[in-house]
Amino acid sequence: MSDYEPVIGLEIHAQLRTRTKLFCGCPAEFGADPNTLICPVCLGLPGALPVLNRRAVEFAVRLGVATECAIALRSEFARKNYFYPDCPKNYQITQYEVPICSGGRVPLGGEGGATVRIKRIHLEEDAGKLLHPSDDETSSFVDMNRAGIPLVEIVTEPDIRTAAHAAAVAQSIRSILRYLDICDGNMEEGSLRCDVNVSVRERGTRDLGVKTEIKNLNSFKAVESAIAFEIKRQETLKRDDKKVEHATLLWNAASQTCQLMRSKETAHDYRYFPEPDLQVLEVSAETVERIKQSLPELPSAREKRFESELGIPEYDARLLTSSTDIADYFELVTRECGDAKAASNWVMSEVLRELNERRIEISRLRVTPEHLGRLILMVKNGAINTPTAKDVFRTMAETGTDPQRIIADTGLGQIGEDAELDSLIQKVLDDNPKVCADYLAGKEKLFKWLLGQTMKASGGRANPKRLADRLEILLEKRRRGG
Ligand code: ADP
Ligand code: MG
Ligand code: ZN
Repeated sequence: MSDYEPVIGLEIHAQLRTRTKLFCGCPAEFGADPNTLICPVCLGLPGALPVLNRRAVEFAVRLGVATECAIALRSEFARKNYFYPDCPKNYQITQYEVPICSGGRVPLGGEGGATVRIKRIHLEEDAGKLLHPSDDETSSFVDMNRAGIPLVEIVTEPDIRTAAHAAAVAQSIRSILRYLDICDGNMEEGSLRCDVNVSVRERGTRDLGVKTEIKNLNSFKAVESAIAFEIKRQETLKRDDKKVEHATLLWNAASQTCQLMRSKETAHDYRYFPEPDLQVLEVSAETVERIKQSLPELPSAREKRFESELGIPEYDARLLTSSTDIADYFELVTRECGDAKAASNWVMSEVLRELNERRIEISRLRVTPEHLGRLILMVKNGAINTPTAKDVFRTMAETGTDPQRIIADTGLGQIGEDAELDSLIQKVLDDNPKVCADYLAGKEKLFKWLLGQTMKASGGRANPKRLADRLEILLEKRRRGG
């Protein structure tokens, strides 16, 4: 074990799925032509006044309640001043001294049950986006469509000790956001962005070391690799009796290293002050209570229910509950076939593989849960074997047809008729007289080989149990000179 202990805290920005922006009526959409979803308010033109989006507040409270935060009945907006081309007003409206939620915990992702506390969750507006065309090194463009889109920033306490746990916590936060239906969690499109803070200290000491912050992590893999890299870098510095400098770093996925973005000397002074154009944000205790009552079952509770009620192993339960859509699908398959374990195996292997290969969400998978449930039933009652079922599943995903139809149309049904099996077996025995004779002379191991040949001859469609029974009977007949 190393003599140093890593200390990690996360800051996660999540775009809220509201119809409009945080302080104006512009659509909060991804993918429109640049600078088409803008107005004087989100551009910060002189005289334009912000009006708070009620739904964004409701979403932030929903998240706060789900993570056991205290909800402030009165919170404040503040101006964070900075000058950068992606920030049209030259300040960002955020929450500073009194955030809307504080003091909660992430109810999942605890490796070995370790709880990660949430320090605060606050509301703020997103900035615009800079574009640097690769074929023109002298220009940059700015798209303000994203400016003013509502975000929540979720800040954890520095409770995390490993890179893998940090990635798991980020994943848990994403699945909560998705369960609550308040953020689509798409990291590639930037609707979920993760910054990590890393320091190391001598094992056994309590004071926190100097931290660095790594920005620009757009996958869970990147979160894990960047933290692992940074822990190693800081440990090496300490071992060489050098100091870790307070800094902001950027992760470079191509080189798998961190680069310096700014050091402490150039750190910003944001000159925060209360936003004069907005009132104190008030949320009534009744509203908080109403939102509490309307929360859906959360991933951690569902995971436990899958384990205790359905007997699903912990790892599988976590994977199945990572999104509501997959968990819902799995539950429908189970309802249809009555076998949670089989349903879980099919969803975790074939269904997830199909989604990956086709790069689609489960809502667009052409295999309905009812059809998959019926396919599983057909395997259970011996109508088809598992390899055939996997082929049928691929056809189902391709065409959306129900499994009975596919099996009837293609004659893929399992061969269980004795007469049909017998004629396959006779042919194999006739074609292999030597093997047959050796077996009858006592080389019992050859049974397996003969079984394999007959299964092959059936195109994999023979009912394995029936086939073995018939082979034994027919060999016995030959022994007796039949
Ligand atoms: P700052 O004022 O630099 O933004 P905060 O106290 O707001 O720092 O914390 C920002 C994030 O950094 C939080 O996620 C917190 O858990 C984490 N953090 C704070 N101090 C440390 C440290 N010494 N080592 C690692 N993470 C830290
Ligand atoms: Mg901070
Ligand atoms: Zn606008």
